[in-house]
Amino acid sequence: MTITETTKQYVRQRAKYLCEYCHSPEEISTSRFTIDHIKPRSLDGTDDVNNLALACSRCNQRRYNFTVGSDLETQAEVALFNPRSQQWQEHFIWSEDGTKFLELQQSVALLAIALT
Ligand SMILES: [Zn+2]
Repeated sequence: MTITETTKQYVRQRAKYLCEYCHSPEEISTSRFTIDHIKPRSLDGTDDVNNLALACSRCNQRRYNFTVGSDLETQAEVALFNPRSQQWQEHFIWSEDGTKFLELQQSVALLAIALT
């Protein structure tokens, strides 16, 4: 099934044109952000808007089909960040110089995979 342009635009506007995983703004990217399936299609994820997220190409590629990741310190398996059910600001923060972000909680791991 193909995601319609109307749905893509809805997802883009809902995300305020920010990657929903790393919060990079699309306007400074050299390529248009992609529509990511939070639960991958290969795992029976649907094209419903609640399963879609705007993602920069780097996050989308690194995330691939993963739904869990490893905590960098404990190596424990933890769920990846879900932008539909979790608040980004509760889990991550950008460094003051804007070059990296810090995980505030170890309960989600997407960005550990996405940006390392
Ligand atoms: Zn990103």
